[in-house]
Amino acid sequence: MSNLINFFAEGFILAGALVLAIAIYPISLLYTRLPTGKIRNAWFFLGVLIVAFIGGYIAYWLQHQGKLVHVDALSVPVIFFFGAVFVLLVNTLSVKTARDIRQIYTLQQENITDPLMGIFNRRYLDKRISDEVWRSKKYRQPLSIFIVDIDHFKQVNDTYGHPIGDEVLKRFAQLVKNSLRESDIVARYGGEELIVILPRTKSERGAQLAERLRLSIAEHLMEIASQCGEKSHEMQLTASIGVAGLTHNIVDHTCLIERADQALYQAKQQGRNLVVHHQEQQSQRV
Ligand code: GH3
Ligand code: MG
Ligand code: MG
Repeated sequence: MSNLINFFAEGFILAGALVLAIAIYPISLLYTRLPTGKIRNAWFFLGVLIVAFIGGYIAYWLQHQGKLVHVDALSVPVIFFFGAVFVLLVNTLSVKTARDIRQIYTLQQENITDPLMGIFNRRYLDKRISDEVWRSKKYRQPLSIFIVDIDHFKQVNDTYGHPIGDEVLKRFAQLVKNSLRESDIVARYGGEELIVILPRTKSERGAQLAERLRLSIAEHLMEIASQCGEKSHEMQLTASIGVAGLTHNIVDHTCLIERADQALYQAKQQGRNLVVHHQEQQSQRV
């Protein structure tokens, strides 16, 4: 009987050490996938602790080899074993939870991102602009938007084909995004039109930012490599921009967009490559 108890006691200790060793694997997965930083270091520290515990289990086993013959002696090995199972479960669950959170985040991002341009899509735009109008009205803060439309974009498609046109749109969206502030929201409104939301920004300042953007676009030389190994194409685009700001008589975001759209129409009418600010109905041309 005592031999059997000893067999089980030592078995629990060694099985516990083995389970702890297995528990290092999920930690290694987390460690390799996490960016450098405090959390990654904390998981590394936890891995080191587990290795130390494995050493402790083995030391205990060596000290008590052949001596664990009473039923009472079973309690410590059993606690060791289930402690190790607990650690393995927590680590495995952490990996699965991290994976689930990443999947949810990816799905959420896909849900609000335009697949071609890589900026916010129309669904996100509609929700965000309506939220921003509501918030600006509630807290009496300024808000402005502008609509950006590429000039004569049809010609790009007609001259180089739709795949190149798509690549131009992708680069154009990134150019607009990089030319603006972090706090500005850039979304695809439709076709080759973008809407930029400028929270807490008066429309006069919005018009200045739009003018700066117009210049960046006009000065940017785009080099697009052909997908079929043919020579690359160089092109310089221009865009027209309509700016509108929130005023007390604007009831909702559709009125704000309508005003920016009217200003854009004027910019096109007045020769393109132009910013028109709706409230003043004045155009600026460089
Ligand atoms: P305007 O200066 O008056 O704006 O002239 P435009 O040629 O740019 O005219 P408009 O803005 O009305 O036309 C936009 C064109 O953009 C029409 C369409 O063929 C093209 N377009 C819209 N969406 C896409 C897209 O996802 N990919 C490509 N390649 N072209 C698109
Ligand atoms: Mg256009
Ligand atoms: Mg258009």
